[in-house]
Amino acid sequence: MKRISLLELAHNIAGSYLKPGDIAVDATLGNGHDTLFLAQSVGVKGLVFGFDIQQRALIKSYQRLLEYDLQSRVKLCLASHADMRRHIPEQWHGRVRVAMFNLGYLPGADKTVITQIDSTLAALHEACALLAPVAAITVLAYPGHPGGELDAEQLAAWCQRLDKANFTSEEILSHHDKPGAPRLFVIRKQSDLL
Ligand code: SAH
Repeated sequence: MKRISLLELAHNIAGSYLKPGDIAVDATLGNGHDTLFLAQSVGVKGLVFGFDIQQRALIKSYQRLLEYDLQSRVKLCLASHADMRRHIPEQWHGRVRVAMFNLGYLPGADKTVITQIDSTLAALHEACALLAPVAAITVLAYPGHPGGELDAEQLAAWCQRLDKANFTSEEILSHHDKPGAPRLFVIRKQSDLL
């Protein structure tokens, strides 16, 4: 049996929604792996908005995009994901196909700069409001980080409160069956109005 990581699974799920020309959001740029994947998936006519509160993450992401000459299809924003609606021009509201969150700290940087559940939930709320009629959000959480267990519990509770007419959610556990193993939350939107 082939085992894939939750990161790969998040990419597979996001990729199953994305078409050329789509709009996508990377809510936590980090080292830019998700942004690169999203930029490749949306094609030349697509657009990715990437957020991080650390300049270092924007630089790392930009360097990665440059390597693939994909920088022109990504708008990098030095801003909290909780403010994404202000940074994404109105013409794209209601058109975001995928938003990806990878929680925790920036690997190789200051481990005290870590995503906070209050802004994560605020950002998820914003992201839901920006989604296209058929769309998905992936959230990779790391309960092994300090405070991460509580974050995962709060994320699970937030998913339970989603409007069931438009959203479904699932939580996928890592195959590493140990305390603190990552957890992937997938929120899917399939609007009744279609
Ligand atoms: N834990 C993952 C990487 C996560 S990177 C791994 O190990 O692979 C998470 C990124 O989120 C960091 O770069 C951090 O700076 C960023 N971040 C923290 N709070 C944020 C916020 N409010 N808005 C946007 N990005 C934020």
